[in-house]
Amino acid sequence: MSTPQLPPVVTVKPTDVRYPALRRGFNQRWLARPEYVRLVSTPQAVVTALSEAVNQEPDDVSRDRVTVRSGGHCYEDFVCGDDVRVILDVSPMCDMYFDPALEAWCVEAGATNWHGYSHLYPMSGRALPGGSCYSVGLGGHITGGGYGLLSRQAGLTVDYLYAVEVAVVTEARTVELVVATRDDPDPERRDLWWAHTGGGGGNFGVVTRFWFRDLPVPPRKVLLTARSWNWADVTRESFTRLLNAYGTWFADHQDPDTASGRLFALLALNHRAAGTINLTVQVDAESDDASDEGTAALLNFLEAVDPQSGPKSRPMTHSIAEHAAVPDAWTPRLMPWLTATQALNGSGPNRSGKYKSAYVRTPFTRPQIEAMWGYLGNNDQTRHLTNKEALIQIDSYGSAVNTPPRSATACPQRDSIMKMQYQVYWNRPSDDDPGHEAESLKWIRDTYRATFADTGGVPIVGGNTDGCYINYPDVDLDDSDWNTSGQPSSQLYYQDAYPRLQRVKARWDPLNVFRNAQSIEPSSGT
Ligand SMILES: Cc1cc2nc3c(=O)[nH]c(=O)nc-3n(C[C@H](O)[C@H](O)[C@H](O)COP(=O)(O)OP(=O)(O)OC[C@H]3O[C@@H](n4cnc5c(N)ncnc54)[C@H](O)[C@@H]3O)c2cc1C
Repeated sequence: MSTPQLPPVVTVKPTDVRYPALRRGFNQRWLARPEYVRLVSTPQAVVTALSEAVNQEPDDVSRDRVTVRSGGHCYEDFVCGDDVRVILDVSPMCDMYFDPALEAWCVEAGATNWHGYSHLYPMSGRALPGGSCYSVGLGGHITGGGYGLLSRQAGLTVDYLYAVEVAVVTEARTVELVVATRDDPDPERRDLWWAHTGGGGGNFGVVTRFWFRDLPVPPRKVLLTARSWNWADVTRESFTRLLNAYGTWFADHQDPDTASGRLFALLALNHRAAGTINLTVQVDAESDDASDEGTAALLNFLEAVDPQSGPKSRPMTHSIAEHAAVPDAWTPRLMPWLTATQALNGSGPNRSGKYKSAYVRTPFTRPQIEAMWGYLGNNDQTRHLTNKEALIQIDSYGSAVNTPPRSATACPQRDSIMKMQYQVYWNRPSDDDPGHEAESLKWIRDTYRATFADTGGVPIVGGNTDGCYINYPDVDLDDSDWNTSGQPSSQLYYQDAYPRLQRVKARWDPLNVFRNAQSIEPSSGT
């Protein structure tokens, strides 16, 4: 009996019933009108499909971009823009297995975070230290750096990347499948590997497979707590105290060999309209006894950010943005690591969204805290807003992330202690709901600009900030209305890694097939 297999290629054209679903990704803000979407299930099928796509004459020359999709979670229109002719979708390639030839775990590029947690972990006892949102695709996630709740103890996903397989387009418009490894004897292939450790997806070719060595072993058990403060109880003074305590605690706990250095927290500063500020914390622990190192670290953290003298925290009863609520975890709950990961697992509803990011190296400055306080519904510009899904999320960062040298990967931000993500969501306009896109965009842009008012409206490289995260792309960074810092997005995302990325781009994508509004510009010389 033969093994059942997926067809290597499936082509979905505008008349196909699947087309309306497949011409969009997770962010409902972006709708492409491609000539076709092609689903590919083997590396060889990617070669054939890519070769065909780059050698076809477009029906419409204004729509001639070929894009690649894995999980479809891109924040900007890099995959589903109006100028897209073909979408190559690698999501059918989602296997994970040990590859004895490379002595590494192979992860196919169409797999998601959830495949990592539900397949790779049970099979190997290892995990990618990536994001908690189940539906995020690894094709985009890993190429941009990929981090999550395990990152303070284990670093970034790319810190374990040993090899990558990429379908690239040559100057002669032929397609080659290249395997590039960390220790590749060929320096150009080694550079191609390096560019995939944070250079961002959609820049060099179609990644078909990743290989990882020495992946971390997640903790046996973790303690998880989820708490909320009612906005009605929060004063300017207690808000300031919370942000100071949060930043100071992480500045003081940066050693991954200690439980405090491994503790990970997500602070969701929701707009006042949402009713609450939310906090989720996870730390590895063997028991919930105060003598346990993890438990002691968690209690110490909670004493700092949720003191008896502050506003009374309560169980977190409703989800905000992408994270599920864990209503029964005000009292820290001990559970297996995978169970905790499942408890937090969520991606939020499908709707339109806009995002911005910032790496933060030291506790927030007073003007930064004042700006956040104001724009979360406490100033005249934002008091009237009713959107419950507008927030500034502050993730803990650093510790093991800050261990590798800056140039070891294409993720140069290696001394931050927090990572911020500004988010706002709205529904696509319909007869029942006007959607509030303009109001939402204004809120997030004004809030971000106000927070970083002292540095040209963006978290510049230098001072207490260290630029932005390519996996949270934001085209406003290249708009002089919103960025007057003199640092373009290439500097904010890549810093001094950018010239090398440009050389890799020129070598491996000489025709600039893989491009978007913020893709790497090929260098002119070699
Ligand atoms: C709900 C949600 C939660 C998130 N949580 C986290 C988090 O916890 N941590 C974190 O680090 N990030 C997080 N992110 C950001 C996420 O890492 C990025 O959005 C990532 O790029 C998504 O990858 P994707 O494959 O799903 O998206 P896609 O839209 O498919 O791709 C994103 C980019 O990568 C390119 N790309 C995709 N596949 C390939 C491929 N096979 N070869 C070459 N290029 C490719 C695309 O062309 C595009 O430019 C989150 C995003 C969302 C929407």
